[in-house]
Amino acid sequence: MPSNAPALSAKLIFPTKEIVEEYYLPIIYTACRTCYSEQVPDKIWDRAVSRETADEKQQSLVRKVMESGHGSTIEHVNFTFAISGVTRTLSHQLVRHRAGTAFDQQSQRYVSFKKRDNYTVPDSIANGDLPDDLAGRFQRAVDDNLDLYGQLLQAEVPAEDARFIFPNAMQTNLIMTVNLRQLIHMSGLRLCTMAQWEIRQLFKQIRHEVFRVSPFFGSFLVPKCVPLGYCDEMGNRDEHCRIKPHRDTVMAVWEAYRGGSLEETDGPVVPETSPFRPRSRRVPLPVADGDVRPTHREPVGAQLGQAGDSDRV
Ligand SMILES: Cc1cc2nc3c(=O)[nH]c(=O)nc-3n(C[C@H](O)[C@H](O)[C@H](O)COP(=O)(O)OP(=O)(O)OC[C@H]3O[C@@H](n4cnc5c(N)ncnc54)[C@H](O)[C@@H]3O)c2cc1C
Repeated sequence: MPSNAPALSAKLIFPTKEIVEEYYLPIIYTACRTCYSEQVPDKIWDRAVSRETADEKQQSLVRKVMESGHGSTIEHVNFTFAISGVTRTLSHQLVRHRAGTAFDQQSQRYVSFKKRDNYTVPDSIANGDLPDDLAGRFQRAVDDNLDLYGQLLQAEVPAEDARFIFPNAMQTNLIMTVNLRQLIHMSGLRLCTMAQWEIRQLFKQIRHEVFRVSPFFGSFLVPKCVPLGYCDEMGNRDEHCRIKPHRDTVMAVWEAYRGGSLEETDGPVVPETSPFRPRSRRVPLPVADGDVRPTHREPVGAQLGQAGDSDRV
């Protein structure tokens, strides 16, 4: 990165810690509780915001409702971030998130960029120990483009046309407002190790900022595999990321368990009440002389004998 280029930054500008602490939990609690209560919502709210209903009780209900995926309850609160020093590569990915978000981004039509060093050079290029002066050539190519941009402006080409010469490395600034449901969704995708490094870095800062005002809400901003319990990324079938096992592994273990080739050792892993729990296998009858044994291996469902269609997952 050129020496004067700003570093990537995400600051939570609204709400303040005081506002989050005082109001955010009660708002969500009121939304959740209204669904299960005869009380009118303003009474639930009064008790929540005055802490007549203790924070622990509010958190416990909110967590259960969130973990059950009843997402509308957490659409009632928003977070606004000031984002700067990110590239157009990043912003193009960020604004793909449509639901529950609002973005405003620095214009390349109305701003004619006088500084010519607000671009980012990725680490793999800047510190990549590359041959043939590739890093230097990268930087010179960007600098040349930006010089040309300046000359186009001097020749009175409008900024909206001169910008066609800009590379993806150009930095930009945005304001992003997002509700908590969408922030959890976005963090799930963008904190994943499969996400692009720059947007991952942004979401680590966003997570840090939310933690600063609320460790409770911050704790929900995790890669998507954490609440799922497994990784569903096709690019991680080799399990190079070890946060959670890949779905393929989970399914292979599951199939082995259903097929009876895995035993539960330390108490039941699958709850006794689960309809997916294989029942005890039939003991095969002794084979009389002259009986024909099947030569092929039967499918898992057939081996279990009792499994109905409904438990094929
Ligand atoms: C690792 C990674 C790689 C990617 N690679 C590419 C790529 O190569 N090319 C590319 O084009 N994009 C790529 N994307 C972007 C991706 O396809 C999505 O566009 C982006 O992540 C926005 O997420 P979302 O679809 O969940 O939408 P969001 O707007 O974040 O919506 C949130 C949720 O709301 C619901 N929703 C929103 N809008 C609708 C709707 N119109 N109809 C129904 N339900 C809706 C969905 O459940 C959705 O998941 C990539 C994303 C990631 C994380």
